[in-house]
Amino acid sequence: MERDEQLQDLIRRGLDGIAGWEQQWRPFERAPALDVDAQAARAAIDELARRLHNNYPFFHSDYAGQMLKPPHEVALAAYVTAARINPNNHALDGGPATAALEHEAVAELAHMFGYREYLGHLTSSGTVANLEALWVASRLKPETRIAFSSEAHYTQARMCDVIGARTTLIPVDARGRMDLDALARCGGEVGTVVVTPGTTAAGAVDAVDAVVALARERGWRVHADASYGGFFSLIANEPAARLDAGAWAAIKDCDSVAIDPHKHGLQPYGCGCVLFADPRVGALYKHDSPYTYFSSGDLHLGEISLECSRAGAAAAALWTTLRVLPLRPDKGLGPILLACRLAALAAHARAQRGGLLTPVIAPALDIIALAPLRAGERASARAISQRTEMLFSALMADQQRPFYIAKWRVAKALGLLALPDVEWDDDGCTVVRCALMKPEHGAIVNDLIEALERWPLLRA
Ligand SMILES: *Cc1c(COP(=O)(O)O)cnc(C)c1O
Repeated sequence: MERDEQLQDLIRRGLDGIAGWEQQWRPFERAPALDVDAQAARAAIDELARRLHNNYPFFHSDYAGQMLKPPHEVALAAYVTAARINPNNHALDGGPATAALEHEAVAELAHMFGYREYLGHLTSSGTVANLEALWVASRLKPETRIAFSSEAHYTQARMCDVIGARTTLIPVDARGRMDLDALARCGGEVGTVVVTPGTTAAGAVDAVDAVVALARERGWRVHADASYGGFFSLIANEPAARLDAGAWAAIKDCDSVAIDPHKHGLQPYGCGCVLFADPRVGALYKHDSPYTYFSSGDLHLGEISLECSRAGAAAAALWTTLRVLPLRPDKGLGPILLACRLAALAAHARAQRGGLLTPVIAPALDIIALAPLRAGERASARAISQRTEMLFSALMADQQRPFYIAKWRVAKALGLLALPDVEWDDDGCTVVRCALMKPEHGAIVNDLIEALERWPLLRA
């Protein structure tokens, strides 16, 4: 297997490099307590591999369900190499090398969004990146509300609860985007708005530019939760991608942004990142330092993080990946994102031609959401949910060619706008959702849609 050979070669090289470095110190006896029987170690790993068989085939192009795929071989080899030392990016003496790599990798992410001055660091996840942004917002605008849409990630509400911030839920339009009229009607209690360029469920892209313009008038902070969608910035101006370029360009005008390299950045979990447009927010973390310190190269990113221990290996993995797959529209990650986007556009077009599936929302990124509902057919929400459940199980169970999809429970309020032919006998409607986040997905979308079109043949 070519993929595994490359991975083994890279890991070998990395570990050899570390072993060479270790040799400069005097040899010492390793404690016998750490010795394990070679046979037992192999048996344990074999058992682990067997236990891990209880997974869906996330690596495969026929897996088109949740936002899951293995990291790139380069990322994994870099992670293993750095983890052999296991530096901790909590402080400079936890690992000077990976502290520098984190600075450089974060600079590349900031540059991708068009941030000039900024303060940012890696986090263990998008949830923590958002938590930090909301915590900063609540410190700068105490007693005000934080507004986000009903399609924002569920952890926004949870993290607001953690920091004790009151929230305002904004409804969405027929395309799953924050309803701008509803936002404009918000009263003086709001202090911060969270926009989502790329919602988790359907990949809807909020009108970041319009929200920023309104926020400027009202004096609101804006946080962009680009955990999922952030890397699409790379191809925002590619005509073939048909993205809303204005929304992506406006991320640089937001006060903070979260992005998850462990989603579209080919990284292993956990690698998130938070960026702030104003480096002076660093003073909230460390109040006795001069402001200028936070934009200087001397700053250690562990000093401006809510988390203490952070894997230096995560910074090493991201940094190394960006050496070979740079953040560019024309090579590296750009073409990978474009392939995913084109797969979604092709799947959408194919589904519409077939007339047996109803797109809930036209894809704005690489996620498709389809109701098993014929064009022009009227059906109840419960009936559609049942069709989806049957498809979900039947596709997976197919002996010839299994497909793996995900489900999305569309809330009735959005469904009333997006699915006018549904009779609402329930508070939601379960539909098919596929994250086409592998560049190989373009090759399977016709077969996938054909498989989904078999729903009329299924029996409960
Ligand atoms: C995945 C996701 C999150 C949560 O990020 P984790 O890394 O899973 O903690 C937040 N917001 C959006 C839009 C996401 O897609």
